[in-house]
Amino acid sequence: MLVTGCWLTGNEQREPSNEERIMSILVQKFGGTSVANAEKIRRAASKAIAAMRKGYQVVVVASARGHQTDELIADAMEVNPNPPKREMDQLLSTGEQQTVSLFAMALEAMDQPAISMTGGQIRMITDGVHTKARIKSIDSGRIQKHLDEGRIVIVAGFQGIDENENITTLGRGGSDTSAVALAAALKAKVCEIYTDVDGVYTTDPRIYKKAVKIDQISYDEILEMASLGAGVMHSRSIEFGKKYDVKIHVRSSLEDKEGTIITHEVPQMEGILVSGATIHKDLAKIGLVGVDNKPGNAAKIFSHLAKAKVVVNDIIQTEVNAKKANMSFTVGKSDLNDAKASIEQIKDEVGCDSIFVRDDIAEVSIIGVGMRTHYGVADKMFGALAKAKINIDSIVTSEIRISCIVDKEQGEKALTVVCVAFELDKPAEKRQK
Ligand code: ADP
Ligand code: ASP
Ligand code: MG
Repeated sequence: MLVTGCWLTGNEQREPSNEERIMSILVQKFGGTSVANAEKIRRAASKAIAAMRKGYQVVVVASARGHQTDELIADAMEVNPNPPKREMDQLLSTGEQQTVSLFAMALEAMDQPAISMTGGQIRMITDGVHTKARIKSIDSGRIQKHLDEGRIVIVAGFQGIDENENITTLGRGGSDTSAVALAAALKAKVCEIYTDVDGVYTTDPRIYKKAVKIDQISYDEILEMASLGAGVMHSRSIEFGKKYDVKIHVRSSLEDKEGTIITHEVPQMEGILVSGATIHKDLAKIGLVGVDNKPGNAAKIFSHLAKAKVVVNDIIQTEVNAKKANMSFTVGKSDLNDAKASIEQIKDEVGCDSIFVRDDIAEVSIIGVGMRTHYGVADKMFGALAKAKINIDSIVTSEIRISCIVDKEQGEKALTVVCVAFELDKPAEKRQK
C-alpha cells in the first residue's frame, strides 16, 4: 500500500495524483443526522461511490439513524430504570446494525457491490467495560479482503465485542472512535467525519451562533475540546488519531466543501491565544470535606473509584490544616451513581467528615496551544465572568486550557461572554493580539 504523499495537510491541500490514489484507503464516517432517512442514506452512499470513482478503496463507518440511540435508551428505561450494562450494549448496538445494512442495500441499488459488517464481524475486540469499552485490536484483514474484491465495506460504528464475545459499546459518540481506529488499522490516507456542521467551530454553533469555523486544529487542542464537552468529536478518536498519525477531516454531509483538518501542531498555531471554548453540562462534582491529611489517602480514594470503573475528570485537593484536607473531583453524570456508592464505601476509612454532591453545574473552558507562551489569558476570562456577575465555583488549568465551574443555569451565558472576550466570532488572524 502506498504510504507516501499527503494531500490534506492544511495549506498544502491538493488532489492526489492518479498514482497516489492507487490502493489508497479512505474511511468515511457518517453520523446519525447524516443517515437519518432513506434520502440521506442515498446521499451518503453517493459520496462513498464518488470516492471509489476517484480510485480509493472505501470503508464507511455509520452511526445509528437520527435519535435512535436516545430512543433505545428510553425503551430500556421503561422496562428497567437501572438496566444491566451488558444488555444495554446488546440493545444499543442494534441501532448501528440497522444503518449499515440499509447503507449496503442503498449502494447495491446504485450498482455498487457492498457488504455491511458489525463490530463483531470485523473482530473489533474491546475490553469488557460495558457502555464505555476501549478498543484493543481490529482484524483489518477481514475488511481488506472485501475491499480487494471491489466492495465498499460498511462497518457499524460504536460497537465491538469483548474476548468472551459479548457485544460492547464505546460510549456516546463512539462511532468517531470506530472510524479513526479503523483508519489507523487500515493505514487509510484520511478519515473523513461527515456530520451536520461543516467543521470544528470555535465553540458549539448551536449555543453561540457567531462561532466561526476553524480551518486547521492540532490534535492536542481538539482533544482538550472534545474532553471538555465539544460534542463534535469523541475524545478517544483523537487519541487514536494522534497516536497513529491519522489525518482527520471533519466536514459537512450536506455541502461539498472543505471542513476542518485535525493535524499535528504547526508553528503558526502558537500565535493563536485561544482556539476554542467549550461547555460541559453532563458533569457532576463530588466533594469530600475533612479527609485525614496523611499519606496514602488520595491513593486509596482513587484506586477505589478505579475499581468501580469510574472515569474521573478534574481533581482538586487543598490542605485545610495539618490534620485535614478537602478534596473534590468531577465525573460524567453517567458515572455519578457508581462514584457516590464507591465514595460512601471508603469514606470512613479516610476519615472524611462529610460528602457533598453537585449535579447542577456546568464547566466552561477555553483552549489554545498559544496559552503556553502568552500571559493575561486567565485574568481576561475571570474578568469577563465577573463583569457578567457569574460566580466561579472552582477553577482548573492545564498548559493549554482554563476551566471554570459555574451554576448550570448560568453556563450558556458564561460561554457567550467568554467567547466575546476572546473574539471567537472572528477568524484567528483578525483577532486583536
Ligand atoms: P454526529 O451525529 O454527526 O456524530 P454530533 O451531534 O455528534 O454529530 O456532533 C455534531 C454537533 O456537535 C454539532 O451539531 C454541534 O452542535 C456540536 N458541537 C459542539 N461543539 C462544537 C464545535 N466546537 N464545533 C462544531 N460543532 C460542535
Ligand atoms: N449512536 C451512538 C450515539 O448516539 C454512537 C454515535 O453516534 O457515534 O452515541
Ligand atoms: Mg458524534
